[in-house]
Amino acid sequence: MDSRQPTTQRLTARAHVLDAQHAAADRRSAFVIPEGIVYLDGNSLGALPRAVPDVVADVTTRQWGERLIRSWNESDWWGAPERVGNRIGELVGAGAGQLVVTDSTSTNLFKLFVAVSRMDPGRTRVLIDPDSFPTDLYVLDSAARLTGLTVEQVHPDRAVDRVAEIGDELALVVYSSVDYRTGELWDLAAITQAAHRVGAFALWDLCHSAGAIDVRLDDDGADFAVGCGYKYLNGGPGAPAWIYVRAEHQDTFHNPIAGWHGHARPFGMERDYDPAPSISRARSGTGPMLSLLSLEAALTAYDGLSMVDVRARSLSLTGFFIECLGGLGIDLPLATPAQDGRRGSQISLRHPEAYAVVQALMARGVVGDFREPDIIRLGFAPLYVSHADALAAAEHLSHVLRDKEFESADLAMRATVT
Ligand SMILES: *Cc1c(COP(=O)(O)O)cnc(C)c1O
Repeated sequence: MDSRQPTTQRLTARAHVLDAQHAAADRRSAFVIPEGIVYLDGNSLGALPRAVPDVVADVTTRQWGERLIRSWNESDWWGAPERVGNRIGELVGAGAGQLVVTDSTSTNLFKLFVAVSRMDPGRTRVLIDPDSFPTDLYVLDSAARLTGLTVEQVHPDRAVDRVAEIGDELALVVYSSVDYRTGELWDLAAITQAAHRVGAFALWDLCHSAGAIDVRLDDDGADFAVGCGYKYLNGGPGAPAWIYVRAEHQDTFHNPIAGWHGHARPFGMERDYDPAPSISRARSGTGPMLSLLSLEAALTAYDGLSMVDVRARSLSLTGFFIECLGGLGIDLPLATPAQDGRRGSQISLRHPEAYAVVQALMARGVVGDFREPDIIRLGFAPLYVSHADALAAAEHLSHVLRDKEFESADLAMRATVT
């Protein structure tokens, strides 16, 4: 007798019920998901939306191939960074005219760090989470060397107190809404309020939130924000990132990469830089148009969706996955908080052989990823992952662990990208 059987049946039935309950945010039919794959890495590279290939074909054959340079006007390539920015703005609670799609997240962070250092030279101190995605730390350190800012690494759960202690020397706090490694969701509104009480700015990194969480940039007071185009937003490998500058700060935001696309009159070809009187000043040079227009097509998967429903589906998926772990007797330590309000859209589990476990899952068609030092990271992109997928992933994990499938030597060999 397999004592697991009744549990599996119960969980299967529950997966059906939950999938029906959260059908409002189900857009699986808008994506290409290969047969036999449970894709739990949409937090790292979103799946391919069906709308993208046709747009890429049109952009290459007609817009570029036939219409050539005329497409900058005819297809409004020029206005695409602001147009796509406004669409992303709707997903992260930003009113029009505050967000533009440009460059990479790393480059946009650099622009913001340097710009903030020039806004109030009397304020020189910056707080950042030591557990930030590394690029945030590297870019801030480099910007600090250029500008004279001083950086202090403070964990988000101590940030509110530390901000008050530092007071009016504080220029900026830099926090990610979701920890990329553990999936913990931080209360950035509270940290932002603390920063504002001492006259400092708050910069939010939304790489692991945009498209999965009902972020409210305008309402929660964020001054600046950045995010990726290729994670939950599904823009494809190398899709450009975005930058948000709250309307009231745009006049005093001076982009250190003051390129011609951010000029008030780019085709005036003037000798001197005069920044555009809008979010366009955050642009620098010519953007990757094929990727930018792919991102625009990808975002149609969100048409008609409410981010409140998306967030509800995401929480239900990760909550149900935790339930499956319990039901199937998988007792790996959770790095992600089990409490709903403290979770992003991923579940991270700890295992000493995490890398090999991820490889063994991959061999079974469950695609997740590994993060140093011991994290099995499983992302639940709410638009195309189902509760049935969550159960299937847990069942595969239970087999991998029970039969020690991760012990095969070749699974421990690290590839370049983990
Ligand atoms: C993915 C990610 C980045 C990536 O930055 P790029 O410059 O676009 O490669 C930056 N920050 C965070 C928090 C991320 O998760």
